Order: sequence, then C-alpha cells, then structure tokens
Amino acid sequence: MPSSRILIVEDEESLCKMIAEALSRQGYDCCVAFEGDAALNAVSELSPDLVILDVMLPRLDGFEVARRVRADRASRDTPIIMLTARDAEEDVLAGFAAGASDYVRKPFSIAELSARVSNLLGRSGIPAEGGVTEAGALRIDPGHEEAYKDGHLLDLSTTEYRLLEALAARAGHTVTRGDLLRRVWGMRAGDTRTLDVHIFRLRRKIEDDPDSPKLLLTVHGRGYRLASGDDAAERGNA
Ligand code: CA
Repeated sequence: MPSSRILIVEDEESLCKMIAEALSRQGYDCCVAFEGDAALNAVSELSPDLVILDVMLPRLDGFEVARRVRADRASRDTPIIMLTARDAEEDVLAGFAAGASDYVRKPFSIAELSARVSNLLGRSGIPAEGGVTEAGALRIDPGHEEAYKDGHLLDLSTTEYRLLEALAARAGHTVTRGDLLRRVWGMRAGDTRTLDVHIFRLRRKIEDDPDSPKLLLTVHGRGYRLASGDDAAERGNA
C-alpha cells in the first residue's frame, strides 16, 4: 500500500521538522512548509492526503490557508488538522468554520497527533468509489444511494442517506461534527442543531432501540462513529 502523504505547516521550523521526522518513522511520506503561501503551493503541487496546519503563521494565518485549501476544487476534501493554542476555544471554532476536519491543542504529544492522523486517514469501510460499504448489519450502496439493514431497504431521506454514507466511509472511526456538517450540508460552520435532528431521525430508522444506539454512536465532544463489524475488538474512544 502506498504511504499517505502529509503536509506539515508550521513556522516554528524545529517543531515542524520534529513532527515530520516522527510521522516519517511511522511510514508517512512527509513534506513541510514554514508559511502560508508555501503551504498553498505545496498543496497544489504535491496533493497531500492530509494537512497538519498551525493556526499561528506569519502573513497568511492557518484559517486563511484552510479556507483557500477548501476553496480549491482539487483539495476541498483534503483532511486538515489544525494546531491550536492551548485554551483558545475560539481558535477551535474558527478552525472548523474555516474547514478544519479536526484539531490538536498545543502542546500535544506525537502519539496524540498520530492518532488523529490515522483516524482521519483510516478507513475501515470500503472506500472504492461506487463500491458498496458494509458496516455491521448495514450495507450502503452509493451507486443507487440506498442503504439496507439486515437485507431490508431503509426508507431514508436524501440527507439521512448522505449522513449515513459519510459515517460509513469511516466506519469504526470518529467523524467530527465539523466534518459531517461540511460533507453532508456543505456548511463551514455550525448550525449543529440541524445535525442533531438528522442524527435523531437516522437513529430511529437504523437502531433497534434508538434510545440505546448500538450502530450510530456518540463520541462525546467530538462527533459520531458508525460501529463497524468488528467494533467490539476496537479500543474505546474515551
Ligand atoms: Ca506557529
């Protein structure tokens, strides 16, 4: 399997290189940029599979870089992990608004960053375009925009189907609320009430007991996770 390419954007060069070295040792193909313009060039020239993006950069800050990455058709689906200052809740919210997929607060451990990276890159479902994804009792058929549970066709609205598909593409992994809003509604920022309502409706259609979900799980403070077939073997997300 070819290794995933990660672009690390951080003006603190020693930190940038330290992250690159650590992730390289884990088998990722890492490249670095020390400021925003160079980052945008690297995104278009190197097509990274994921971008680790510091908020605090000279001139173009991380939010603006994220917005431009999202605005470009070629890179709009590239996952972005923002590195934010400790205790800067507004940075987290602004990061999601700018299109970030996830964030890590500084100072962070490489283990934490690496877990976020593999979460965003990892896909236990079957990602092939047009391919059918199976997650436990659920079967999602993107070719026909249909989903089945235990062989029975589910009566889903288009939005409910898209929400389920977005979760199934990363079955067994947490999908952040920001990511779901962006993927399903194309929204940069948070009318999270809309998401809550659709999660509620989807659960009523796919869960045996919607009050005690076994398939569409809440990951508190982060997002949602669709249980995969071998979910019992996975570690918890706590
Ligand atoms: Ca910085």
